[in-house]
Amino acid sequence: MTTPIVAIHGGAGTMSRAAISAEQERQYLDALNDVLAGAQDVLAQGGSALDAVTEAVRRLEDCPLFNAGHGAVFTSAGTHELDASIMDGATLRSGAIANVNCVRNPVFAARRVMEDSKHVFFVGKGAEDFAREQGLEIVDPSYFSTPARYEQLLRVQREMPDAAVLDHDGQAMVAKEQPAAAPIDADRKFGTVGAVALDARGNLAAATSTGGITNKQIGRVGDAPLIGAGCYAANQTCAVSTTGTGEMFIRMVAAYDVAAQMEYRGVSLEEAANAVIHDRLPRIGGKGGLIAVDAQGRVALPFNTEGMYRGYARVGEAPVASIYR
Ligand code: ASP
Repeated sequence: MTTPIVAIHGGAGTMSRAAISAEQERQYLDALNDVLAGAQDVLAQGGSALDAVTEAVRRLEDCPLFNAGHGAVFTSAGTHELDASIMDGATLRSGAIANVNCVRNPVFAARRVMEDSKHVFFVGKGAEDFAREQGLEIVDPSYFSTPARYEQLLRVQREMPDAAVLDHDGQAMVAKEQPAAAPIDADRKFGTVGAVALDARGNLAAATSTGGITNKQIGRVGDAPLIGAGCYAANQTCAVSTTGTGEMFIRMVAAYDVAAQMEYRGVSLEEAANAVIHDRLPRIGGKGGLIAVDAQGRVALPFNTEGMYRGYARVGEAPVASIYR
């Protein structure tokens, strides 16, 4: 019998230069712990890994501290384009949506694609129409906006107009008039959220959801909704969700690479996850991290940035949440 476990992330990035008060840090840790407790509860009640990752990502989407759903970042045009994916490790079924801006919880849409369509991936208007037909909650695009994210867009456009999209990777940034009030610098963080879980039946699942990257070009899609890049789950190996420079995670097929190394090289989850984050991604300048669990309930949370909002919770044990190394 395996003990069910869920792990989550709320993005990786550079630590804020601003002095962070204990209270601000506590706010993030409390949010992570709440999400973990909710998903842990699903598993404790005998819920599936799929239900646990759906619940964790729904909560992260609803929380304005993280860049997915409410609180998503802005594109260069001042709009939102949301992406999400989900995968069932037991059957290798998966669902994804990209470039939507009216579905309140993109992870629900991804799950419906997986369970109620004969396809895997819908984008744009087709994805929104599908979500509507499925009866999912539709919101005005302004629902996703928060004043803090809009300030962030204006700051990025003013201070690094061209480099904005990928200037999250540790180069010194010009001083801001308004310091970011978050432990990880909001302007230089990858805010994708994700969850991975193992349930009591030994099934694995993964889900990822994001607003993308601040000031991204219209139509740009990152790794988050791409099965194999930002999300992957297979019962015989592991479940993975990523966060970071999406373009590099796509090129390295990052999430699937963890599973493939375990299957083809016979290495442990930890070794495979570390190889992707600390060896393969850096070769092409990839920054970020991932969360992963294997079929035995081992967990790996590596990142090559200064911090990553992350945590895990085994059923019957207190959740563990952290931000820095
Ligand atoms: N990986 C995401 C993307 O490229 C960004 C993130 O992790 O926040 O869209």
